[in-house]
Amino acid sequence: MLLKKKDLTVLAQHYDSHADSYLVLGKRKNRTKSLKRYVVAWRSRHRDQFAVCHYFTDSHSAEQYFNDVVYDEDRPDHPLLQKDWQKKAVYDWEQKTLIPHSRKINEKQARVLLQKVSRECGMKSPRLVWDKPAEGSSYDIDDHVIHFGHRDNISLLHEMAHVLYKHDLDESETDIPTTHSPGFVWTAIELYHRYAGINLNYLIIMAAQQNILGDMSEHQIIFAERPLQQNVKNNGPKKPKPP
Ligand SMILES: [Zn+2]
Repeated sequence: MLLKKKDLTVLAQHYDSHADSYLVLGKRKNRTKSLKRYVVAWRSRHRDQFAVCHYFTDSHSAEQYFNDVVYDEDRPDHPLLQKDWQKKAVYDWEQKTLIPHSRKINEKQARVLLQKVSRECGMKSPRLVWDKPAEGSSYDIDDHVIHFGHRDNISLLHEMAHVLYKHDLDESETDIPTTHSPGFVWTAIELYHRYAGINLNYLIIMAAQQNILGDMSEHQIIFAERPLQQNVKNNGPKKPKPP
């Protein structure tokens, strides 16, 4: 039987902006014959039913497991419940909001920008391969290489956002694929603001209109305050939402 949103009383939940999903600690409402009434499971923000369910007989064990998943850097289970679901919406937002503010860059300027972003964000600079325009641009995670076919600063910052976002995720999550998740979008906004000088509110408002920021109520920290030249890898433990 599939467990649905209405079947659980939510005791605590934690939002993950990479998966755009909630990790939920809940108690089953229905009079199930099973003694395992406590559940820790993931639910996509876009779906009604739960996935990757773990059942427990007592609340203490369930709570323990919930906290393990939230705080443990190894993240025993961290599903991407959907494929790269908002890729098109992110591209549309960039076309509409950013391309008018883009400027052309040559290879030398691209390398300077790449070094500057890497240095100021405290991460190892990726290698830049200057491709033909027809090739488009992409970030190869395994080789830490940006293949760059575009000729503008916004496109380079987009690829750098993939690099930085990846860098900010735990090392142990290296097998998590590159997507254009809400978490990615917040990172990209930061770079577009800082390195292309685009107004922060404008970026956020336009992204919110495009509905690519995930659960806004869970993103109250103003990321733009991230200090320069600091190792940004450890964002500290994420606090679960009180029940
Ligand atoms: Zn991308």
